[in-house]
Amino acid sequence: MSIRASLCKLRNVVTVEAPMSLEGGVTRALLEDPNATVHLRDVEGGEIVGNLWSTRENVTDCLGIARDELLGHMLTAMNEPVDTVDVDEPGFAHTVTENVDLTRLPIPKFYPEDGGRYITAGIVISEFRGRRNVSFHRMMVMDSRRLAVRLVPRHTFTLFREAQEAGEDLRVAICIGVCPSVLLAAATSVDYGQDELEIASALREACGQGPLEVGITATGLRVPADADYVLEGRITAETAAEGPFVDITGTYDHVRDQPVIVVDRMYNSEEPVFHAVLPGGLEHYLLMGLPKEPVMFRTVRQAVPRTHAVRLTEGGCCWLHGVVSITKNKEGDSKNAIMAAFTGHPSLKHVVVVDKDIDIFDDREVEWAIATRFQADRDLVVVPGAAGSSLDPSADTVTTKVGLDATKPSGGGLFDRARP
Ligand code: MN
Repeated sequence: MSIRASLCKLRNVVTVEAPMSLEGGVTRALLEDPNATVHLRDVEGGEIVGNLWSTRENVTDCLGIARDELLGHMLTAMNEPVDTVDVDEPGFAHTVTENVDLTRLPIPKFYPEDGGRYITAGIVISEFRGRRNVSFHRMMVMDSRRLAVRLVPRHTFTLFREAQEAGEDLRVAICIGVCPSVLLAAATSVDYGQDELEIASALREACGQGPLEVGITATGLRVPADADYVLEGRITAETAAEGPFVDITGTYDHVRDQPVIVVDRMYNSEEPVFHAVLPGGLEHYLLMGLPKEPVMFRTVRQAVPRTHAVRLTEGGCCWLHGVVSITKNKEGDSKNAIMAAFTGHPSLKHVVVVDKDIDIFDDREVEWAIATRFQADRDLVVVPGAAGSSLDPSADTVTTKVGLDATKPSGGGLFDRARP
């Protein structure tokens, strides 16, 4: 589904017709109403959408499912990938040019200290010797054809190194404006060699939307057919300073020497809309956090069979704070749930375990459980010296993890909320 088609499915869309600049204006417009999807119709002649997947409801409305069905469907998709389907005339190939000028695309500069204009909703599809990877990478515009790309040492980096050792550049296609199934699949941490596009396809199937359709680019890469923009190019041996740039916590990340992508060809759909994810905004949180929840859920359920749900909370950037809902079979299950949650999401720093009667999507209910069911001397788990998230500015090389057991003690007491 193109961005324009997705917009039709969403409930809360604000359209801004007034002309706007790429530097500064976009961020202010997105911050004004973080829960509304913002469609900017004239950003120096281009169209931008932001806050597109900044609520769980937007994601699940677009996929045509209920809010609490997503986690289960994502688990299914990770376990049982589904083939993608090739189409002959993909939407992204409406216009193709080798006369690439990245500076003319509606790519915003989000904050004044940023190293440049940044692509933040670009998923990078790379392939080397039959192995494909799909993942998010932030990319800074250097000039008309070059981007500095942040490559954390994971799968794209591994493929890049293999290509380098063979004396080649790594072929990539950067896709902007793809359906939430592709975005969520690109943000999963599956094993090396597992194909994220097939996970996206499986997620669509699980949601009753049919398999993912893909088109084939000039260099033979398969990319989502409905992407608004596809930038085809190569990760090269050249490097450049990447950053500064704002990370998920809303604080600045370091400048690093990173590889340079050269873009050789650009495709766009008939009326493309450029998708921009605001760094440190709700959409950034959800796209990073939602794909971690199924893995956390699976790990906690191994320890506590009656695990009902897990959530990474927006207040903790959907990364550092989690809530787990269980029904205890025996005393101590809640402590095991805490330990399993830390295993399932190693970046997790604080976790609260609650009973089934607490709605974990309501932060006030979770706090109420802490207020009425938690005693620090018996219910607190503190793990100093653990490896945590590099994104937490308060952590040194190691972090202290804290679990709060806010479940009712077995054996009764006045722990239930009065209901009318
Ligand atoms: Mn991968």
